[in-house]
Amino acid sequence: MSDQNPLFIPGPTNMPDRLRQAMQVQSQDHRAPDFAQTFLPVLEGCKRVFGTEEGDIFLFPASGTGGWEAAITNTLSPGDKVLIARYGMFSHRWIDMCERHGLDVHVIDCAWGTGAPAALFQHVLEADAGHRIKAVLVTHNETATGVRSDIAAVRTAIAAASHPALLMVDCVSSLASMPFEMDAWGVDIAVSGSQKGFMLATGLAILGVSRKAIAAIETARLPRTFFDFRDMTSANAKGGFPYTPPLQLIHGMRESLEMLFEEGLDAVYARHHRLAEGVRRAVSAWGLDLVAQSPEIYSDTVSAIYVPEGFNSNALTAHAYHAYGVSFGVGLGQMDGKAFRIGHLGSLTDVMVLSGLAAIEMAMADLDYPITLGSGMVAAQNYFRQSRAPAPANAV
Ligand SMILES: *Cc1c(COP(=O)(O)O)cnc(C)c1O
Repeated sequence: MSDQNPLFIPGPTNMPDRLRQAMQVQSQDHRAPDFAQTFLPVLEGCKRVFGTEEGDIFLFPASGTGGWEAAITNTLSPGDKVLIARYGMFSHRWIDMCERHGLDVHVIDCAWGTGAPAALFQHVLEADAGHRIKAVLVTHNETATGVRSDIAAVRTAIAAASHPALLMVDCVSSLASMPFEMDAWGVDIAVSGSQKGFMLATGLAILGVSRKAIAAIETARLPRTFFDFRDMTSANAKGGFPYTPPLQLIHGMRESLEMLFEEGLDAVYARHHRLAEGVRRAVSAWGLDLVAQSPEIYSDTVSAIYVPEGFNSNALTAHAYHAYGVSFGVGLGQMDGKAFRIGHLGSLTDVMVLSGLAAIEMAMADLDYPITLGSGMVAAQNYFRQSRAPAPANAV
């Protein structure tokens, strides 16, 4: 199998050569002053991507799941009540983690393919006159279903109920690919990772934390050591880490932020929207349905696509892998066997997306799906041609 074929799973994403090279560094003394010169600009750059001036940035050596654990253990105590809606595998896993930490989890079960139910949250919070609910936890982009939730609407619901709960948001598969406005949306903790929008190797949990969440640390009694924000804050203030930092990833982060700012965050978001729209045109030309139930919640980083009745989505992704050496996302949880996913985030171009659509079309045709070979390609090609950015004036 050629490792030149792009990945179409929604993380880890394709690593640009520039970032792979940036991570190729010799070990370095992390207590020497030049470490701080690399590291401190990363914290500043992350603030821009999270959309925060008020908040602090924390980088832990972990995957995104570790970021969830840091968020809850630093702010909550055993038995604390939290409010979470389940509408996919990732919101489900965050619920599971809260339960295993001994939190009292109020779960709102929603149909998979829908997003965070702001009105229902408001209803539950209004009924909580004693303010027993300490936090509302929301998955911004549910990677299992390709649904993006409206975080500003959730904050509005919390405010409408005049409720003091913290708002914690999983933005692992949205940050640096879709707009995120931590301060404007009133997010208290935003959790992300290095291997999706940042186009890097897995291994950094990246968090944005508000003043209010920082204040909650003093009374939070869930056990924590490795993930304690206070240890990280005091070490960061001296330009270092409370333990050995993942140096190569921090070099990668510095370069990743450079790349994002060179392209411009708005241009990065517009590119993701355009590529996602090309994929959606293809899905519609195939006559297939997205799991996401309505256009205003379509994710620009991943599309989950129902296979027709009588077909198994896992057989399709397995065939695409074995026959063509291309990976697509499998159906997770309730979507097991029913839907496959096309990840379209990170380092991707029109041409790369077209190659993925061509590969999955071949796989579907091989397995006798009722689609016309080439139909999705043509729909995406037409959309990409028509929505192409005008060439810069100095282009040759
Ligand atoms: C990828 C992902 C995570 C984190 O997964 P890790 O494997 O721990 O990095 C969390 N939430 C969402 C929505 C994700 O897409």
